[in-house]
Amino acid sequence: MKQKRFILQESELPTAWYNIQADMPVKPMPPIHPATRQPLGVDDLAHIFPHECCVQELDTEHDFIPIPDEVLEKYKAYRSTPLVRAYALEEALQTPAHIYFKNESVNPLGSHKINSALPQCYYAKQEGTTNVTTETGAGQWGAALAYAASVFGLESAVYQVKISMQQKPYRSSIMRTFGAAVTASPSMSTRAGKDIITRDPHHPGSLGTAISEAVELATTTPNCKYTLGSVLNHVGLHQTIIGLEAEKQMAMAGEYPDVVIACFGGGSNFGGIAFPFMRHNLKDGKTTEFIAAEPESCPKLTRGEFRYDFGDEAGYTPLLPMFTLGHSFKPANIHAGGLRYHGAGMIISQLIKDGLMHGVDIPQLESFEAGLLFARTEGIIPAPESSHAIAAIIREALKCKQSGEPRVILFNLSGHGLMDMSAYEQYLNGDLMNYRVSDEGIRQTLQSVPE
Ligand SMILES: *Cc1c(COP(=O)(O)O)cnc(C)c1O
Repeated sequence: MKQKRFILQESELPTAWYNIQADMPVKPMPPIHPATRQPLGVDDLAHIFPHECCVQELDTEHDFIPIPDEVLEKYKAYRSTPLVRAYALEEALQTPAHIYFKNESVNPLGSHKINSALPQCYYAKQEGTTNVTTETGAGQWGAALAYAASVFGLESAVYQVKISMQQKPYRSSIMRTFGAAVTASPSMSTRAGKDIITRDPHHPGSLGTAISEAVELATTTPNCKYTLGSVLNHVGLHQTIIGLEAEKQMAMAGEYPDVVIACFGGGSNFGGIAFPFMRHNLKDGKTTEFIAAEPESCPKLTRGEFRYDFGDEAGYTPLLPMFTLGHSFKPANIHAGGLRYHGAGMIISQLIKDGLMHGVDIPQLESFEAGLLFARTEGIIPAPESSHAIAAIIREALKCKQSGEPRVILFNLSGHGLMDMSAYEQYLNGDLMNYRVSDEGIRQTLQSVPE
């Protein structure tokens, strides 16, 4: 009989995360201070983030970093996640490709975000912090953080992008169920929020804006640390649990991926599944192809520029070396809220610059069409974010159909879409559209990038 799902026992769980920085041929450029232009060290970042996260952020030496036992214990609530062979999707596409997906939707919060929320809250607690704060778009990160904070006995405050809160009201209920205080952003509760509302009273909010508010709260509240659900190196590090498990599970299936694909917001689920396999490209001569699927309406990987830019709209963060559309870029209100971010993480940006991976941009309607096919074949309703990865693997699978090549395709199902049914409803009613950004639009927002 054909095996469909591959599961690891608790005793087989990886006990260390993989730090690709140690193996990169060219290390990421450092974050720098906007005024002095000096590279930032651990001490410069540690007033905002938990100290251990800052150490991990800048660690270019250790290839494997042990997962604390307390975090492993919490991982066991839902890990390992299954590796699944998508036989029904293969059949629907009539492709000779072997399609596998890592199902990160099967945890209490329904997305991969929890993999980093747990260690970030654990380190904060260890260091004597009592409160954590963050921003969230669609709400997956905020929900994961609220859960992790409650698990480790911390208070949490979450700024949620206003438009996303309206689109997905139940996510704020989930955050509040886990005890978080939730505020729609931009809000009048911070200086950054007030400034933005003064300039544009109808600002729909963006991740960049909400980050500004959360960072301001963290820096003005005693014993409060800021946490981030994506973009930064340590977040991608924590997410490598996905790819490290997948590596063992692909071996159980007797296969190795020719191509690895994930959707791309800031890069954490992509890095999570890709880096452990990229390690074998860097060290063992493997030739796996790595593709990041971004929305056509927010195309930093395919149409942005590699520059030092701010991570947030108000310009509170350090300058980060990233592929960016400019920190003033306002993404269209697509339903894949987790992909509405103007820049890419530092590691990924360097990897793209060095030709070790590439991006593809996916129109919104193609992503929903792909999500629907996946639901109707594999029985899982994907998050609109994850549907971008599905659209990209369908493109690859159809190429295989043309060429007759049975390539092995692995993708990350970053989350389920059960909180996104209003988006599916609009799609089914024919009310959604594509949003292609003009070259002129990108040229303009790139002017907000400091020289
Ligand atoms: C947040 C999120 C993403 C995008 O974030 P990355 O850091 O790029 O992974 C993708 N999918 C889901 C389900 C998310 O919640």
